[in-house]
Formats: sequence, structure tokens, C-alpha cells
Amino acid sequence: MIMRWERRRLATSARARYFFVMPHINCTRCGQTRDQMSFQPFQNELGRRLYQEICATCWAEWIKAQQQMINHYGLNVRDPKAKEMLLKSMEQFLFAGGQIQLS
Ligand SMILES: [Zn+2]
Repeated sequence: MIMRWERRRLATSARARYFFVMPHINCTRCGQTRDQMSFQPFQNELGRRLYQEICATCWAEWIKAQQQMINHYGLNVRDPKAKEMLLKSMEQFLFAGGQIQLS
């Protein structure tokens, strides 16, 4: 009886680890194996790609860079042109090794 209970307890803790440990991914941008971001940022193909290929650290760097761009250019994020500019910059920054140049 005790052994059976032990087995169940072990199975439960293994499942708990599965839920609580942040999955790691091999990041396309920095080339390191790091924490995956905690959620998919957009509900589309690009969002899926970001989630699967970009680590949480690089994503945080982009969020910071994006905020700097918004402040620097006074962007209205609801403006479709501004949105498109940010999306292009994001792809450059994360997938093409780009840095944000504020002019
Ligand atoms: Zn990374």
C-alpha cells in the first residue's frame, strides 16, 4: 500500500514540474537556449513564429526598443502606419540581427 502511494506521489510531482518549469527554446536571435516567452504575443502566424523561435530575454529587449521608438517618434500605436513600422522593425530586430537606430 505504501509503495503504491509513493508511486502516485512521484507521478504527481513530475507533472507539477512539467507545469511550473518554464520551457526552454533555442533562440533564433541570440542563438542560446533560454526561457521561452510566457505567452504567444499575437494570435497569428507571426505570433506563433515569435513564440517558438524567440526567447523571453530577446522579447523583453524588443519591448524596450519598441517603447524607445514609440517615445522617440511620438508614435500612436493605434495608427496603422505606426503599427506597420513597428512590425517591420520588430522583424528586423528579432529575425535579421538588426538594431534599432533612432534618428
Ligand atoms: Zn534570444
